[in-house]
Amino acid sequence: MILIKNRGTAYLYPDDFKEGENMTDKEKALKAVEALEKEYPEAVCSLVYDEPLQLLIATRLAAQCTDKRVNMVTPALFEKFETAKDFAEAEVSDVEELIRSCGLYKTKARDIVAMCKMLCEKYNGVVPDTIEELVKLPGVGRKTANLVVGDIFGKPAVVVDTHCIRLTSRLGFHEIKDPVKIEKILKNLLPPEKSNDFCHRLVLHGRAVCDARNPKCEECCMKDFCNYYETNKK
Ligand code: SF4
Repeated sequence: MILIKNRGTAYLYPDDFKEGENMTDKEKALKAVEALEKEYPEAVCSLVYDEPLQLLIATRLAAQCTDKRVNMVTPALFEKFETAKDFAEAEVSDVEELIRSCGLYKTKARDIVAMCKMLCEKYNGVVPDTIEELVKLPGVGRKTANLVVGDIFGKPAVVVDTHCIRLTSRLGFHEIKDPVKIEKILKNLLPPEKSNDFCHRLVLHGRAVCDARNPKCEECCMKDFCNYYETNKK
């Protein structure tokens, strides 16, 4: 067996393991985790928040909008509405006014108020800590639920966003676009305690290097084991 150390965690590979060749997807996933950990030691969510409810709302606002824009909007929003009860009792039009620049603001405002009404009615105003409960809230999908469960409650989570879909496909873990199926595939490949940070790092790498249209493969820390590089750039 070959011992490979990954930030204090040791992984055992079969004797016939060769770097960059004949890797199983699990072995490749560990190499990707390791490479991105070195490249991006800080794996932080780019949305600014102080508490679970704020992350839940910021994530809803981030749909088809940049995190940067959301971070410009949320300080005034969270100053006016501090608790789930505040949002639950708000006029949807008042929320709309404060989030207008995020796009889709009518749907997002309606979802946020409805979500907070349910939080107050069923969860005593407290954000639940399981994916199963979170996805019952209006406007909350698996991506948001995973983000909250991982970042707030420190549980294993796989946040499948556009960067995750693109990068994991290019690396060769799948050829699909269905986020639920990709979440399942990645859950089977990634060490649970690494999965949440790995997804944050995929976003950072997707923005900095693995661009959708023009990936900078020559400077990529994962090119030695990336299917896309092997096929298109070598
Ligand atoms: S080698 Fe290219 S395609 Fe593969 S992950 Fe890196 S930047 Fe993306």
